[in-house]
Amino acid sequence: MSAISPMTPNAFAAPPIRQTGILIGDEFRPSVSGKTFETINPATEEVICEVAEGDVEDIDLAVHAARSAFETGPWSRMDARDRGRLLNKLADLAEQHLDELAALETLDNGKPINDSRAADLPLVIDCLRYYAGWADKIHGDTIPIRGDFFCYTRREPVGVCGQIIPWNFPLLMTAWKWGPALATGNTIVMKPAEQTPLTCLRLAELALEAGFPPGVINVVPGFGPTAGAALVQHPQVDKIAFTGEGTTAKIIMKNAADTLKRITFELGGKSPNVIFADADLDAAIAGAEFGLFFNQGQCCCAGSRLFVEESIHDEFVERVVSRASQRVLGNPFDTETQQGPQVDKAQFDKILHYIERGNAQGAKCLTGGQRYGQRGFFVQPTVFSGVTDEMDIAREEIFGPVMNILKFKDTNEVIQRANNTCYGLAAAVWTKDIQKAHKVAASVRAGTVWVNCYDVFDAAAPFGGFKMSGIGRELGEAGLANYTELKTVTVRLG
Ligand code: ADP
Repeated sequence: MSAISPMTPNAFAAPPIRQTGILIGDEFRPSVSGKTFETINPATEEVICEVAEGDVEDIDLAVHAARSAFETGPWSRMDARDRGRLLNKLADLAEQHLDELAALETLDNGKPINDSRAADLPLVIDCLRYYAGWADKIHGDTIPIRGDFFCYTRREPVGVCGQIIPWNFPLLMTAWKWGPALATGNTIVMKPAEQTPLTCLRLAELALEAGFPPGVINVVPGFGPTAGAALVQHPQVDKIAFTGEGTTAKIIMKNAADTLKRITFELGGKSPNVIFADADLDAAIAGAEFGLFFNQGQCCCAGSRLFVEESIHDEFVERVVSRASQRVLGNPFDTETQQGPQVDKAQFDKILHYIERGNAQGAKCLTGGQRYGQRGFFVQPTVFSGVTDEMDIAREEIFGPVMNILKFKDTNEVIQRANNTCYGLAAAVWTKDIQKAHKVAASVRAGTVWVNCYDVFDAAAPFGGFKMSGIGRELGEAGLANYTELKTVTVRLG
């Protein structure tokens, strides 16, 4: 690994921080309590700035702004085409501010600037444009029912949508939530993650600049058990869309029960990445590295159970370890950097704890296994071999740069083991045998299966989980269903 590069300022390292308040209507304001919280630069552990800390009263104000925009504001009367134009305008503004937004994301989250600029931001812009295109293409059916009636359906917005997102892709998760909600005419109260509120606030400012009417988008930074819970419990909120941990989702589901809110969840995973002996090994090794280490391993769909067929196991392990140990860690603003810090101390500690568990339970740590550097929440890229299905590192979500390699002998066995988990978010299979590829793709209980690739995302392709990895799908046409109510209208003709 290269020496850690100094956290020296460069062209990107100090993006302007324009908004740190709570957006209600068209105004960024302090919290009702006057409280603020710190957001930390995970590469240096220094405070970036203070952000207004929303709580019950702020959520209430935001929900009322969203309700009134939904019921009586210009948004409620706006043509679908004009909603699409606004979304396109927001996408254009995000594109114009790509460097600034990417830098802000890297500052607040720690992800390498190359990733922010080449992955997060283009996906954000694409998602907004994709859903802009849907705005005027959402319509119902005519239904030939028995008798002299004319029956048709309408797709109407759900109403006020509470959206709660995590910190691993702050701006991208914002776009995944806003795109379909706005295309279908809903209004939003968003609570960004407490670790990474800055880019969401900036995008909200750009949304006002684009011309979204006041109250259509409201953003309340704050903590989960306070601001988040208040949003989930608010009787004037019609729907909650949440991305985060399963344990949090269970709390949200219980809290949403009293008001029977619609809920959609995108949760964790322990995704199997299956490498057969007949795979293109170079591609599979690169895919295994990318599928696990991308975004510091902080991906809900990370290929964190790497099943390798016995006959290629030793060669595969040697080559993947060599790649992992050469990954460039350091200053996320350095364009050479491949891996930045974990997002915060809690995640950093959790990952080191899992590494300890892996060692204690008999897995073999072949590279990494330690903190990296003295400052910032960096963890060395770590590879364990000799992992067995019952070890904690093979069962629980680590959310860090820890690769776990498991050996398998045949197709049926690996399918059974791949499915032996409470999760079902994603999976991948690497093979040149088309029949085997399709067999595995059909047999694995997961919302996404990649064949000879990993982490291929597109705004048009649905994403979400089977089992305890989620409820509902985001992206694609499927993503619209979360944000519309279906109404049946029956008209007597005779
Ligand atoms: P992570 O471990 O990735 O931070 P969480 O599920 O804890 O995952 O957090 C994801 C989002 O959920 C964050 O915005 C967080 O503030 C929010 N959150 C946490 N607890 C609650 C809760 N009880 N109710 C609503 N939102 C919550």
